[in-house]
Amino acid sequence: MTQAMPLPLYAIGLGSNRRHARFGDPRRVLLRAIAAIESEAVEAVDASPIIASAPLGPSRRRYANAVLLVASSLSPPEMLAHLKAIEAEFGRRMGQRWGARTLDLDILLWSGGTWADDMLTIPHPEIERRNFVLAPLATIAANWRHPVSGLTIRQLGAKFVRPKPVDRGAAGL
Ligand code: AMP
Repeated sequence: MTQAMPLPLYAIGLGSNRRHARFGDPRRVLLRAIAAIESEAVEAVDASPIIASAPLGPSRRRYANAVLLVASSLSPPEMLAHLKAIEAEFGRRMGQRWGARTLDLDILLWSGGTWADDMLTIPHPEIERRNFVLAPLATIAANWRHPVSGLTIRQLGAKFVRPKPVDRGAAGL
């Protein structure tokens, strides 16, 4: 009996900071996007809660962010093509780095480890700097080890937890 190879797992980051004319506010855009990512070749395994976060850069809009775990036999370039097609379908405005985006999809992690070519870098290079990625990712994949740093997602997220103010005076410090 041959044992089936387990399907590779991907963590996909989703972000929206713009209403969609038909789908509604950024939260609803993400719910639609999760449904669109699932396909014959892409099986949803788990989804984080959708979190609202403060905007990054000059845009004043709020973001909705989430992370989806999917199992898929697609190669990383095939997965990127799948995600880009969905972004285009949702009407992402090209060339606006910090502007209002209907939908932004990123490959954050892949169980195959690392990937680097002109189009695609896995793990996504911004993971460690973005709490709006680490926080939802930690709700569904806290023990996933970043293949470059060797740290778990929980460990990477810990630096964003603010130390609680302590009463140093009362302690004589
Ligand atoms: P951005 O607009 O900043 O999300 O960048 C989009 C471009 O980054 C895409 O056209 C991809 O070719 C490239 N890219 C590189 N690494 C990744 C990744 N891990 N996930 C998604 N896009 C990536």
